Amino acid sequence: MTVINSQAPILVTGASGYVAGWIVRLLLEAGHVVHATVRDPAKKSSVAHLEKVAAGSSGTLKLFKADLLDEGAFDVAMTGCELVIHTASPFVITGFSDAHEALVRPALEGTRNVLGSVERTPTVRRVVLTSSVAATYGDNVDILQVPSRVFDESHWNTTSSVDHQPYLYSKTVAEQEAWALQKKQSRWDLVCINPGLVMGPALTTNSISASITTLQQFGDGTLKFGAPRMWNGLVDVRDVAEAHVRAGFTPTANGRYILCGDTLSLLDMAAALRQRFGNSYPFPRMPVPKILFWLVAPFYGYTRDFVWRNMGYPIAFDNSRSREGLGIRYRDVREAVCEHFQQLLDDGLVKRR
Ligand code: NAP
Repeated sequence: MTVINSQAPILVTGASGYVAGWIVRLLLEAGHVVHATVRDPAKKSSVAHLEKVAAGSSGTLKLFKADLLDEGAFDVAMTGCELVIHTASPFVITGFSDAHEALVRPALEGTRNVLGSVERTPTVRRVVLTSSVAATYGDNVDILQVPSRVFDESHWNTTSSVDHQPYLYSKTVAEQEAWALQKKQSRWDLVCINPGLVMGPALTTNSISASITTLQQFGDGTLKFGAPRMWNGLVDVRDVAEAHVRAGFTPTANGRYILCGDTLSLLDMAAALRQRFGNSYPFPRMPVPKILFWLVAPFYGYTRDFVWRNMGYPIAFDNSRSREGLGIRYRDVREAVCEHFQQLLDDGLVKRR
């Protein structure tokens, strides 16, 4: 049982991000003092939306500069905090040349660094870590190793590496490191939030989260000839934020919580978008044959191994722990996809047709 003093400041790392924006908003609206770390507090596009929320709420926002790779960078921001919510970690799937530097190092060293500050900050009682379902499985074909055909919190990703699915690997090693460090002491406990692909309106247009780039592909024509048969666990960003806050303040919260409202294929997402936005957008209608996508995958930034191990395997997640332990009532993920797409149109990130 860990009771967090609600008057103490709460540290949120990576506060400029898509998911963190909603966490900070919930905390400020509930009247908390939020110590928000960003890489560049002077960059208005990263923090203006947070300052706007703060101005209209009863909470207090204090911005701090911290890079995951700078040792000790979180010490000052963490001073006096009982609760640390660590969200910062790069979420990019393509567009880098060195996966270790782009993903694994910031995720792993960043987690060590944040938890190093926790070790030096005697007030901290709980750390909530934004992990991912990526830390529970690597490729969709891994579902065949699970007799129930449903992933749950007992599962770990054992198939990703720096060369294959490096983002998923980065989340796995970072979460494993966090548990290893937590077990060495008894002052602070650790609660991990493991969301599926997060969808829903963003508070910022500044994020490069793959949540946003994934949805852009439905509007920019990338998928106009069809979509590979691939399933993702999806969750509304507001449910993810709620789960972080509840994980922080529920005394009995413990272990890992998968967050997944539903599992949709890319074609299911397209069908929901077509129903809402009509036929003028290049939403995919047909599945791309696996062998064809396997051939062209490198031109789209995917490896053939990825295609082979992920196309054509429906997956599912057990979300009962989050419903029972944190009281999450899931929003409709199709609605989240549509609201998010509407926002991409409104923000000019997808061309209106
Ligand atoms: P995002 O908008 O790109 O946010 C990532 C955050 O990490 C940004 O605030 C970024 O700060 C920060 N960051 C990256 N490298 C950093 C570094 N070297 N030092 C300090 N901060 C750094 O992505 P997101 O989707 O909100 O992801 C947030 C968290 O949720 C990540 O841990 C991600 O793995 C996890 N997650 C996301 C999803 C999803 O579908 N979106 C699903 C499961 C888990 P800057 O603004 O300074 O770049």
